[in-house]
Amino acid sequence: MTDLEILCKKIDQLIAQLGGYWSKEWLIEPVIEELGELSKELQIDAGLHPGKTTNKGKLEEEFGDLLFAVIALGRGLEINIESSLLKSINKYQNRK
Ligand SMILES: [Mg+2]
Repeated sequence: MTDLEILCKKIDQLIAQLGGYWSKEWLIEPVIEELGELSKELQIDAGLHPGKTTNKGKLEEEFGDLLFAVIALGRGLEINIESSLLKSINKYQNRK
């Protein structure tokens, strides 16, 4: 089992403890929410919100939240995360 598969299994276990994956039409909502939170941190980092500060740790935290939500979306849709990522990597490689 790869490291990514192990992490996906951990996410499955956590989601199961929380009552299981949401219905498919709602799985995108956490992705949108976490993308918004990461976007806000990036805006703060760029100085667009005077008086607010962020740091690498906060950016990493929000990136992790987004990644968790994206992987949960994929798992909930019964998509193989590793093979879908590899297909995407191959697509980018072929753009050269
Ligand atoms: Mg967050």
